[in-house]
Amino acid sequence: MIQMPSHQMPSMADGMRIGIFNAVKALSIRAAALIFALLLTLAPALSPGGAIAAGPALDTRRISTPTAGEWPSHGRDYHEQRYSPLDRIHTGNVGQLGLAWSFDIDSARGIEATPLIIDGVMYVTGPWSVVYALDARTGQRLWRYDPQVPRDWGRMACCDVVNRGVAVYEGKVFVGTLDARLVALDAVTGELLWETRTADAERYAYTITGAPRAARGLVFIGNGGAEFGVRGYVGAYDAATGQLRWRFYTVPGNPAEGFEDDTQAEAAKTWNGEWWKYGGGGTVWDSIVYDPELDRLYIGVGNGSPWNAQLRSPGGGDNLFLSSIVALDPMTGRYLWHYQEVPGEMWDYTASQHIMLAEMNIAGRTHKVLWHAPKNGFFFIIDRENGKLLSAEPYSKVTWAKGYDLATGRPILNPDADWARSGKKVTVYPSSAGAHNWQPMAYSPRTGLVYIPEQQFPGIYQSKPLHGRFGSFNLGTDLAAKGVDNPQLMAAIVRKTLKGRLLAWDPIEQQAAWRVPRTTAGSSGLLATGGDLVFQATVDAELVAVHAADGKTLWRFPTQEAGVAPPISYELDGEQYVAVAVGRGGALGLTAPLTDAPLPATGRVLAFKLGGRHTLPPAVVEVSYGDPPSPGTRDKAMLARGEALYRDHCLRCHSAGGAANRRVPDLRRLERPRYDLFDRIVREGLIQPAGMPGFGDTLSKDDTQAIKDYLLDQAERDRAFRSQPAWLRSIKQTFYEAVATIIAWLM
Ligand code: CA
Repeated sequence: MIQMPSHQMPSMADGMRIGIFNAVKALSIRAAALIFALLLTLAPALSPGGAIAAGPALDTRRISTPTAGEWPSHGRDYHEQRYSPLDRIHTGNVGQLGLAWSFDIDSARGIEATPLIIDGVMYVTGPWSVVYALDARTGQRLWRYDPQVPRDWGRMACCDVVNRGVAVYEGKVFVGTLDARLVALDAVTGELLWETRTADAERYAYTITGAPRAARGLVFIGNGGAEFGVRGYVGAYDAATGQLRWRFYTVPGNPAEGFEDDTQAEAAKTWNGEWWKYGGGGTVWDSIVYDPELDRLYIGVGNGSPWNAQLRSPGGGDNLFLSSIVALDPMTGRYLWHYQEVPGEMWDYTASQHIMLAEMNIAGRTHKVLWHAPKNGFFFIIDRENGKLLSAEPYSKVTWAKGYDLATGRPILNPDADWARSGKKVTVYPSSAGAHNWQPMAYSPRTGLVYIPEQQFPGIYQSKPLHGRFGSFNLGTDLAAKGVDNPQLMAAIVRKTLKGRLLAWDPIEQQAAWRVPRTTAGSSGLLATGGDLVFQATVDAELVAVHAADGKTLWRFPTQEAGVAPPISYELDGEQYVAVAVGRGGALGLTAPLTDAPLPATGRVLAFKLGGRHTLPPAVVEVSYGDPPSPGTRDKAMLARGEALYRDHCLRCHSAGGAANRRVPDLRRLERPRYDLFDRIVREGLIQPAGMPGFGDTLSKDDTQAIKDYLLDQAERDRAFRSQPAWLRSIKQTFYEAVATIIAWLM
């Protein structure tokens, strides 16, 4: 049940609401909604201030200065520092932290959402953009809204069917759906108020996975799709009606059709060739931050599409506004300034990662700055008044650039990393997954440290001919094409090369304070608290609390399922909670078969409090379906054809060799009937409701047969390895580990 928080001074209208809420406490949400509707019709007579909001009275002011116990917007407040001042849970008692409640999300795909907490209600999203409102005290479901995303749209998503959460504003809950709609729901009832299609070019693969942001009566949302040839933009929509108020394009369109504004004409001077035919990319797929002090909007712009800069813009050019932070007027979308982190971007180095607002004293002067640790491996300090680069230092292993020239703001490039123009196969740090990706950072004003979910592994980039609408990840890396034809060795190499760390970064010194290693890359975003704790969920299925000052691990809890979404903290009735949504997925999580341990049946939201005694039901032990059939051919050329088709169409979700993360099926260990129906499943979308799209438009019957034979060949190898005596497997495994260590060292 939604209640008014004790900290708010109730107005006359609020007093009415509290009274009514008390009266209907025992009734259902629907009954409350009816009374609300009634109240709304009476509102002009009752409230001298105008209409009464049907839901939490959350506005720009309240998001700017939330009370300690709430988490009203994506990064908690507009500064997005993800610092909760709550200190009831602290370094001295975190050992007593236990599970308060859990909620099963009715899907087992990736979860990347930040839960919001407003007036005792948790708003969180699951896979396929489904929204849940939960009682934040008990985890009980208040409502659920399913936007019914067509499951075929999963093909358009580069990195799983994830969603990073909602915005709540003026009584409404806003969610961007995977099929690029912006939806407004009644915060009390979950009923649809309006929806707007944010992408008008249907042939393009626009998707939304990011959380909308709201301020000054507007809702801001971008989209993804730069892996598949879209033209990026961000839009502002009227929070009340859903009407488009402005749109800012991040790359210019076809000059022959006329530019939308002068900014586009200027940006076009930094492009060559016929970039508009490829879309250009530059999607604003994650970070959008409103600056309440300067009344500005900052957007993080993504990578070029295609990745290959030589194809996209032959002859070079900076290709504005790829890999840039752009400042806009929030009310009009008018361009104010930009800072481009990677001119002529070609490594999928998006600048769409978490933008954090802060103030710093530099040489005796206070600067309003933004902190940014994008994929490219440098920690940027940018003056948010004018977009000037103040500092950029590497926070992870970097080989594409030697540093930044502060006079020009430009990177000092390593010419060997230019795979697009050299045509060579090159190994570059960071990889396209980035030294830090969408997983949000956190900052503690008590330690002065920025906490970064860092990862380190190399990317292999090689120019390939253009085929399809960019084929497998549009001409850049081919993660599976490492020339290793042995799944066990491949797995060992992946384990040795993927490094993950919780990095504490000192932004004043521009250097690392400490690092805590994780078993692999891709763990969750971070939360810092007033109790001097930093929380992180890990891909090997734990929620961990470390000391904010030195990184010492103080508490860990087995979550059964991998966590990539960031934890949050909130307080209700004098009780502090820490909550996180777990569910393996996303670009890395979808494809990494990290563990053979039993998994829960679904993703979950978990909430913790001191002395919490709730327990999770046992995880589910998977059934074995017995041996699959033998491949229809052993002809090397045929199997190679199957592998190539697999890479272009299946690998993104089902991982190298079919050995997926177990949230999408391991294609080497399917039920027999699925092999019998393989062609119909793949081409006709026979199990589309389960999330498997149909590929009838691009694959022939011969193609699906080739893919199936390749997978059955993989299954046979997997079986052969597993049926060897344990001592032989052990010797081989030791050998693979040694080879992998050498390969990882050479990289
Ligand atoms: Ca990308």
